[in-house]
Amino acid sequence: MSLEAQYDPDNIFAKIIRGDIPSVKLFETDAVLAFMDVFPQSEGHCLVIHKQATATNLFDVDADVLATLMAAVQKLARAVRDGLSPDGIRIAQFNGAPAGQTVYHLHFHIIPVYEGRALGAHASGGPADAESLEKVAAKIRAAL
Ligand code: 5GP
Repeated sequence: MSLEAQYDPDNIFAKIIRGDIPSVKLFETDAVLAFMDVFPQSEGHCLVIHKQATATNLFDVDADVLATLMAAVQKLARAVRDGLSPDGIRIAQFNGAPAGQTVYHLHFHIIPVYEGRALGAHASGGPADAESLEKVAAKIRAAL
């Protein structure tokens, strides 16, 4: 997928927004949805997306959409910090397949980093089971 790729309304995150496929949700407003990454690179890896913006990547949105998204990213990162006590937190966002993007609906990653524990590979490996994701999600939600 190039940086100019057309938005596909049937991408996985669009399906999650519509409720066509399940996700472990952390919080939701009229504008944004935060949920657990199903192939987590670390315990607590989660994602923030905009629900209305049909944006493939960072270049497809106005600054007001980005401002809404980043406010949600900060809120969620604080809850990850307070709920899981990682040693650091990586915020990531990829544009285009060569940069590592695999789902073409603009999103931000919140990836807790724990000293002495290597991060898993990006968007690969087996999916985490819903029960373990839910346990971690409960700690994050409690800190929101
Ligand atoms: P990207 O590679 O586009 O930056 O990130 C996409 C992310 O979505 C990856 O971290 C990947 O693990 C995650 N992901 C892919 N499919 C699903 C899914 O069906 N549900 C959830 N919750 N996350 C997904």
